[in-house]
Formats: sequence, structure tokens, C-alpha cells
Amino acid sequence: MVPSQNIKLVSFGIPEKGLLDKIAKSVMKAFNRSVTVKEARLELGQYFDGQRRQYNADQLIQMVEDHYASEQHKTIGLFQIDLFIPILTYIFGQAYLNGQTAVASSYRLGNERYGILKNTNQLSDRFAKEVIHELGHAFGLVHCHTPYCVMQASTYVEDIDLKKADFCAKCKALLKNKNS
Ligand SMILES: [Zn+2]
Ligand SMILES: [Zn+2]
Repeated sequence: MVPSQNIKLVSFGIPEKGLLDKIAKSVMKAFNRSVTVKEARLELGQYFDGQRRQYNADQLIQMVEDHYASEQHKTIGLFQIDLFIPILTYIFGQAYLNGQTAVASSYRLGNERYGILKNTNQLSDRFAKEVIHELGHAFGLVHCHTPYCVMQASTYVEDIDLKKADFCAKCKALLKNKNS
């Protein structure tokens, strides 16, 4: 049976096509659903908070929901800008739980941000895990405590490195029941 809800990745200014392809492949593997990639052109300045010098993720996820989401897809907007929500210093991404829409950003995922040598493979691994994690929320999954499960909460990139780009057996079983 082919699940009825597929996944749409919408890139907001991510220049590396190779990175998008890698993420799409990982997402397809984790969810066993078809994945489409779309490029969006959008002036992001209106989402910039001048005081925090970061971008408002609550407004961005609503923009993605309003303009790019559909009933047939779980849609995630991919960014490379610094995202925040008012109660947190920064976020890697967020999702509407059991909704249609999510966002994620590569901004804080690169080693070079932490004074370590740039590693493109590590960046794409981390970004793929965060995208899968946020889409998991959109499919209704909450945080999981099983070691290596992609639905574990991550505050730091080190937390992301400890996870796999895949769901534990328990989360997989929950996902299977969410085909509508
Ligand atoms: Zn989460
Ligand atoms: Zn799990």
C-alpha cells in the first residue's frame, strides 16, 4: 500500500543541490514515502528580528503553511538562517505537531560555527536528521527516549551526532498507523 501523505521539501535559498538531494534521500529512506523538492524564492527580510538579529521561526512556519503546504503533503521549509522562537535562544527547527508543516535550518549545524574544521558530510547528516525529526513531529510523533532514535530531543549538535537518521521500532510502529 502506498501511503497517501507524501513529503515536500521546500528550499529557501539553499544553494547546494547536492545537499538537498542527500536530505531528500535520507527522508525517503526514513519514512518510506515519496519526497519532492521545490525551490522557493522569497525575500526573508520581513521575518528578521532586528533586536535579536535572528529570524522568527513562528512567523516562518506560518508562512510555509499558508503558501506551500497542502493536504497531500507534509511540507518542510529548509533554511540556512538563524531561527528563534521567543522562549528560546535558538532552534534547529520546529513543526506543527500532527499538522502539515515544519521548518528546519542548517545555520547552526556546521562545525565551522564552533571553531572546528568544516565537514560537509557531517553537515548534511545533521541537517537530514533534523529534517526527519521535525517531519516526525508533523506526523504526530513526540520526543522519544530510545537511544539513537531520531525523535530524541537535541539542544546541541553533539546531541544530533548521537542519533541515527532513523526511527526506533516503537516510533516506526506509530508512524505506520499514521497513513491518512
Ligand atoms: Zn523535537
Ligand atoms: Zn523513537
